[in-house]
Amino acid sequence: MNFLEERILKDGIVKPGNVLKVDSFLNHQMDIALMEEIGREFKRRFADKNITKVLTIEASGIGIAAFVAKEFNVPMVFAKKTKSINIDGELYVAEVESFTHKNKNHVIVSKKFLHEDEHVLIIDDFLANGCALQGLISIVESAKAVVEGCGIVIEKGFQYGGRAVRNMGYPVESLAIIDAMDADNGTITFREQN
Ligand code: 5GP
Repeated sequence: MNFLEERILKDGIVKPGNVLKVDSFLNHQMDIALMEEIGREFKRRFADKNITKVLTIEASGIGIAAFVAKEFNVPMVFAKKTKSINIDGELYVAEVESFTHKNKNHVIVSKKFLHEDEHVLIIDDFLANGCALQGLISIVESAKAVVEGCGIVIEKGFQYGGRAVRNMGYPVESLAIIDAMDADNGTITFREQN
């Protein structure tokens, strides 16, 4: 079991509706030593890629992506969520449905901060049905930049997002993949990874 799986078993709480709460260490209160370890682990997993930018989505991806960007010594950009947009040609836009809030948002990135020649590592806290990740991928594609990979902290492998994005041909590295979880007895089963 790796450091993240151990922490999920210790402090993660399985909620009804296939939601894992990790707000005591990942996406409300943040354990900074753990963030540093996550940053180093993504650097190790994508060491052969010439990453020039880290891209994530607000809000809970930001803290994690900052530590990853520090390891690669590149800037981090986060896509902003907005209800209304004026498409004035200065923004890349994608529509994303939120798994946790069940609403749709436009997510935007200014064209100033993502260019054609960039090699992008996309980072997010969770991968469930893959809407957030596919939105970020489409933004990188709109910029004619290259998606070098996707780094996910917790993938819920029983939902279809991971399979869909891998089938599209993008490399996805998840630090923990949950194959099953049960809100009644609190059990979590991880997929074996090498
Ligand atoms: P997706 O777009 O892949 O369906 O969902 C990904 C987004 O939903 C993540 O950015 C994350 O914020 C949120 N999310 C999905 N599943 C969970 C979960 O089990 N727990 C928490 N805390 N957030 C989740």
